[in-house]
Amino acid sequence: MVEKKRESQLEELTLENSLSVLYELQRVDSRIAQILMLRGELPMAVEDLEDGIAGLQIRIEKLQEALKEGTADITTKRHEIKSAEVLIKKYEGQLMNVRNNREYEGLTKEIEYQQLDVELRNKQIKDLKAKGEELSASIEETKKLIEEREIDLREKRAELDALIAETGVEEEKLREEAIRLQAQLPERLLRAYLRICRNVRNGLGVVTVVRGACGGCFRSIPPQRQLDIRSHKRVVVCENCGRIIVDDPNEELPGEDAAEGEKREKTLAKRRKRADR
Ligand SMILES: [Zn+2]
Repeated sequence: MVEKKRESQLEELTLENSLSVLYELQRVDSRIAQILMLRGELPMAVEDLEDGIAGLQIRIEKLQEALKEGTADITTKRHEIKSAEVLIKKYEGQLMNVRNNREYEGLTKEIEYQQLDVELRNKQIKDLKAKGEELSASIEETKKLIEEREIDLREKRAELDALIAETGVEEEKLREEAIRLQAQLPERLLRAYLRICRNVRNGLGVVTVVRGACGGCFRSIPPQRQLDIRSHKRVVVCENCGRIIVDDPNEELPGEDAAEGEKREKTLAKRRKRADR
């Protein structure tokens, strides 16, 4: 009996400790979220620009390849025209020495055939040249686009680098701290916390009692549950919003105002969408 009592006291102590670790973890995670919010859309904008530029460079390579093929085609066709012209000259020479009408007609037909061939090749060369001009124009246009985006990218990257320089060290420390705190929590509690954080609007999985109400959704908490929260004997979850409620007589968790919360939600939703792709 005595053994059992001691055991349950130990469990209570562990839970009380877990709840304060959880509270600390929420503070750390909230600060990380604030830092990320400060950077806002910049990391994504930089990534989008980089992807866009890479895509444009591939487009240029393809256009240049097509242009090269067109130039090679023109050279081939010019050679073919030269050969046809040599044949025409040869047949015209032979025309002087024909012995009968049949030979004459045969040579005339051959000459006509070669002349048509030359005409056709000349038309093809003209088309290829026109296409080549179009390709060159597209290449120039794409190069200009790349230049514009590179300017944009340089600006955004500098902005982001400055922000990271400002808060990067702090963020790194916070992330290490978060890992350290997570390791101290029972796995079930940690998983529940992470799940709640993902599901609630403002990303806060742990809130404090604020004037007798849940600090997350502001629904009032019945006195009995407030007692449960203060006694640290079990994990109390808000019946309305599902957040874990802890007591903290001195401080409130750093809250976010509605506009900030909404902005963060949008950013997170966008990130989630990107992650799904
Ligand atoms: Zn609530």
